[in-house]
Amino acid sequence: MVTTRGEKLYEGKAKILYATEDPHQVIQYFKDDATAFNAQKRGTIIGKGVCNNRIASRLFEWLAQRGVPTHFIKQLSDREMLVKRLEIIPLEVTMRNLTAGGMSRMLGIEEGIVLNPPVFEWHYKSDPLGDPLINDDHILALKLATPEELQTIRALSARVNDELKAYFAARGIDLVDFKLEFGRHRGTILLGDEISPDTCRFWEQGTKKKLDKDRFRRDLGDVEAAYQEMLTRVLGEGV
Ligand code: UDP
Repeated sequence: MVTTRGEKLYEGKAKILYATEDPHQVIQYFKDDATAFNAQKRGTIIGKGVCNNRIASRLFEWLAQRGVPTHFIKQLSDREMLVKRLEIIPLEVTMRNLTAGGMSRMLGIEEGIVLNPPVFEWHYKSDPLGDPLINDDHILALKLATPEELQTIRALSARVNDELKAYFAARGIDLVDFKLEFGRHRGTILLGDEISPDTCRFWEQGTKKKLDKDRFRRDLGDVEAAYQEMLTRVLGEGV
């Protein structure tokens, strides 16, 4: 069946969701728009949408092959991915293998300290509140998810971390931390959203060069080149 783009369902900071002729499937369109610090900083990273779509498509495929259920169906074009429609759970999972960003700020510790075991965090997905750090009791009090769902999401997140850490290590990259989102689809929990340099911190092994959105957040320059470099690392030299 040919998938055609229907009405726009939702426009976020980096992606647009479109309906398809199948009510259980939607198209994720990846934009070049970039925001940081709860959208106080805005900009454009030329080619970012293409890189993120191709990187996320490859990573979702790879995770699915290893038994992680995801919303990914197939890549449709350079900027479009066909996915299963999810009822998004308003939680962001952060997994951390090295200290950086929010955790370093919150605890007043330097970046780059190895976290073993990895640190798991829940954040409440709310722009007005600035995605605050919350715990299981807050989630149950707000009825955002059931105890069984929390258990499933924790277990899946740990597996995703193990798989991705190994995937990137084999490509000369340390996976510092990343953010995941999950949703419900016909009674099961699936990994959703994207996995890309927008949602992960990647440090080149040896040099510790940042190859992710921190180059945009912190005005480090060479932002486009970093996304292209990650695309090459993920897909191999033949990109
Ligand atoms: N992250 C994200 N979206 C958010 C917040 C964080 O994708 O709204 C990612 C971020 O790129 C990093 C990880 O989650 O890889 C941890 O981010 P952190 O909590 O340190 O927040 P930040 O320093 O980005 O404010």
